[in-house]
Amino acid sequence: MAMTLTHLGTGSRGNATLLETEHAKILIDQGFSGAQLEKRLGRLNLHPTDIDYVFISHHHGDHGGGAAVTQKRWNVKIQANHRTAEELGLIPELTHYFDSLDVINVSQDLSVLAVPVPHSGADNVAFVASHNGHRAAVITDLGSWTDELVTHVRGCEHIAIEANYDHNRLMNGPYPYSLKDRISGRGGHLSNEQTGQFLAQVCTPATKSISLTHLSVKNNQPHLAESTVLYHIDEIFSGDISISLQDGPERSHFIGEKVEVESPENESPLNQ
Ligand SMILES: [Zn+2]
Ligand SMILES: [Zn+2]
Repeated sequence: MAMTLTHLGTGSRGNATLLETEHAKILIDQGFSGAQLEKRLGRLNLHPTDIDYVFISHHHGDHGGGAAVTQKRWNVKIQANHRTAEELGLIPELTHYFDSLDVINVSQDLSVLAVPVPHSGADNVAFVASHNGHRAAVITDLGSWTDELVTHVRGCEHIAIEANYDHNRLMNGPYPYSLKDRISGRGGHLSNEQTGQFLAQVCTPATKSISLTHLSVKNNQPHLAESTVLYHIDEIFSGDISISLQDGPERSHFIGEKVEVESPENESPLNQ
């Protein structure tokens, strides 16, 4: 069975992504209310109690705001680093703590690597999930990136990454200068342009699909994100690119899918 990745929704009003294998179901981030999580999982015929772990990237409300309620209401276990767990006031008995670059073994067919990324006032991490040698990355909320991130994401089959804002729209838009500075700074978010530049470093022939996430409603548009990113990776990427918006769940991405091998016709020597 392939690993499936389904965004339940991404953006400044909440993020959660479901990763499913034969033996495990995890969420990456839980920035929704309990009711919203229940509703969104319900559309996939799942319930929060079906989730083995929720991995939290960082403590900002749109990523970790629903973590505590998920523990309290459904006893779901959370995986987070110490800073994030502390900021969110998580229940220690239901929290597993990881450090940067730890590989967390979830089940016999799923492990998750946590890679630190720069993001203002938070110990944020990107996650790289491995399923029988097939890898998918979920990367969000970073103003820039490190060589370490490039090393770990390079050649992933699926890459979900934020394309937060269009530079011109942000600069000409309604936000005060201080906020524009913060968003576009080293610890802010990635612009479409930066996301394209990052993807140009990490896409290989193994990269089959990309989803662009966490688009700013005020400072971006799906067509701008997609065209800007494709401009940077046009020559190295021929897979499927999609945009994840706030209201999911969206269609699933399959990682490590078995390729149907056509059986050669008239194989038997008797037919020759
Ligand atoms: Zn954030
Ligand atoms: Zn965010």
